[in-house]
Amino acid sequence: ERLSYADLDARANRLAHYLIGQGVDRNSLVGVATERSVALVVALYAIQKAGAAYVPVDPDHPRARQQQVLTDAGMDLLLTHDAVIESLPAPAGLSVINLDQLDLADQPASIPDVGIHPEQRAYVIYTSGSTGKPKGVANTHAALFNRLKWMQAAYELGEDDTVLQKTPYSFDVSVWEFFWPLMVGARLVVAQPGDHRDPARLVDQIQRESVTTVHFVPSMLSAFMTQDDLTGCDTLRRVICSGEALPKDLQDETLRRLPRATLYNLYGPTEAAIDVTHWTCGQDDRSTRTTVPIGRPIANLQIHVLDDRLNPQPVGVPGELYIGGAGLAQGYHGQPDLTAERFVPSPFANGERLYRSGDLARWCRDGTLEYLGRLDHQIKLRGLRIELGEIEAVLRESAGVMDAVVIARNDQLIGYVQGTGIETDALKASLKNHLPDYMVPAHLMVLERFPLSANGKLNRKALPAPEMDTVGYEAPQTDIEQTLSRLWQEVLGVERVGRQDNFFALGGHSLLGVTLVHRIRKALHRTLPLSVLFESGSLAGLADVLQSIPADEAPPLRVHDRGQLAPQSFAQQRLWFLAQLEPESSAYHLPGGLDLQGRLNE
Ligand code: AMP
Repeated sequence: ERLSYADLDARANRLAHYLIGQGVDRNSLVGVATERSVALVVALYAIQKAGAAYVPVDPDHPRARQQQVLTDAGMDLLLTHDAVIESLPAPAGLSVINLDQLDLADQPASIPDVGIHPEQRAYVIYTSGSTGKPKGVANTHAALFNRLKWMQAAYELGEDDTVLQKTPYSFDVSVWEFFWPLMVGARLVVAQPGDHRDPARLVDQIQRESVTTVHFVPSMLSAFMTQDDLTGCDTLRRVICSGEALPKDLQDETLRRLPRATLYNLYGPTEAAIDVTHWTCGQDDRSTRTTVPIGRPIANLQIHVLDDRLNPQPVGVPGELYIGGAGLAQGYHGQPDLTAERFVPSPFANGERLYRSGDLARWCRDGTLEYLGRLDHQIKLRGLRIELGEIEAVLRESAGVMDAVVIARNDQLIGYVQGTGIETDALKASLKNHLPDYMVPAHLMVLERFPLSANGKLNRKALPAPEMDTVGYEAPQTDIEQTLSRLWQEVLGVERVGRQDNFFALGGHSLLGVTLVHRIRKALHRTLPLSVLFESGSLAGLADVLQSIPADEAPPLRVHDRGQLAPQSFAQQRLWFLAQLEPESSAYHLPGGLDLQGRLNE
């Protein structure tokens, strides 16, 4: 489906008039529960045009969590469509509007006459809450507008640009994807539902639509880099990362493989409209940098790195990162106490607030900021924000569980519980009803008692490694099964994988799935769509599928006779060539090696 600006505007205006007719005004919250679609874009614009704020109710989340958002937000209306309406747990009394069944032909196509104050809410996005329930963050038009204005000034999107919208709309990154391109006359391409998880389909889409601008959380960028051929992506001009630390190696690989694109690292919490600092990768790169900085504050934002007493830390000394200025959220919806705890009075400017991010950072000498990690039990897992306390709270409410602790190790969540008569399978099933998939621990272990440190506190480091649920081990048989078993062991970091094992039960997740698909292509010369991994169940099942698909056509490997000289690599040829230009110089040789001993003084 393709819409001109005029079409989109008319559709959004009609829906906005309808919403106003239903009593929606500048104080209203309007829920949106749809799959990624044109209808979603129209709905978001219509809600803004009606002067209200939108609240995403993600159809990919379990019903219990949707219910929490629906009840907590106290929304006036819920917009949805055929694809998801059946599965929504709408509370009694909430009017639910099915956009697919709505006839708006009678509504005017003109823009509604609604005054919007900068301090009004534009959106309320729910994020993980440590007390066991997600919390809604209310962001204002002023903060969002400042952020979008900065982005346009900094990255200059033009009419020739195409932006891919692929971030789930329950994350605030999606806010710039939806609104920035259409503020400046660029083209917005909305990815199909599910496509944001599959690098091969993203490559296709980028190529098909000549996408110039795309966002990745670093974990997904890394999955994207498993694609052997990115030449189709040479229309990309801006690759924008945020959401978790960007590893230096990944930065380097991206710059090398997408040489026409500029890579940016943005940082910010949901509590301050989208992002608050920015860094352009590869610019003035000092050879001593081992991490990618999060850069400097964006326009009209201030960053402070403070100690416990709110004193500024000197350059180079870690402290908590505080955010001040135009980007701050109003606060947590309906939670004044929590808001007061996290948005504190600024010691630097009377009457202003600072947001305590819980992030550890330090200033570098060149005025950029370096991100060092978290100060609490909030984590990022594949770019997704998780309060471990929220999972622990859900576990504690489960039958038989007395106490619970959740840790993240090797990119996986591990849950430990204490109690009586606990069935881990049943517990896992009940977690799935309450938490999004990415928050359900890959492993659950029942412990008689939790390890304590000398001062009687929980000793997280001493928690045992999980036992793998390899039920009814059957040894792999065929060549393909044996190879698969080896690849699963490597990718999942487990010691033994049998024919009946399930990739996801052993702790696999979609990004590890991407890695596996990549390794299968290398080892077995067969290209699998990622979805097959989800559908095939056991290792034996996957082996059957692999058996049935033809091998990729690849140049055969040649066996090299060790008695012969090996052909030069490209790098060797290039060095040889350079050496011909200055035969007397040793610059292109390795004339010797030095073996340094002792302690390295960096
Ligand atoms: P969210 O509210 O989902 O945007 O998560 C915000 C948190 O993600 C921040 O407080 C950081 O811990 C982390 N984060 C976001 N962007 C970055 C980045 N560029 N580098 C490191 N951590 C980041």
